[in-house]
Amino acid sequence: MAYDPENVFAKILRGEIPCTRVYEDGHALAFEDINPQAPVHVLVIPKGAYVSMDDFSGAASDAEIAGFFRAVGAVARQLELANPGYRILANHGDDGMQEVPHFHVHIFGGRKLGPMLKRV
Ligand code: AMP
Repeated sequence: MAYDPENVFAKILRGEIPCTRVYEDGHALAFEDINPQAPVHVLVIPKGAYVSMDDFSGAASDAEIAGFFRAVGAVARQLELANPGYRILANHGDDGMQEVPHFHVHIFGGRKLGPMLKRV
């Protein structure tokens, strides 16, 4: 799947639509999810144009991958989630039900988060 430069997170990176920014460095931008699923729900996105976890893990440089995942940890620490804890999640593809085609990690926290997946 080719990267769509008109996806909503690309527009946020370019400053074309607003976000509630919580962290930014050379590799990543973190902002509040517009439809939070927990008391804390933040998205962390790489600054490079990667569609998904599959794309990022396969095509990004070691420096981009290290910088991005260090940023995820830094965001969680900044939000004081390391203790009591938090959850990260990245959806990919149809079964993962990814909606926005720019790789992103969700950080959830602020309460006990319950089981990882509900039975359907
Ligand atoms: P996913 O299903 O993993 O692709 O998640 C996409 C997430 O992006 C959802 O949790 C949405 O609520 C969130 N989202 C979509 N548009 C925006 C936006 N403009 N600002 C912040 N979060 C957004």
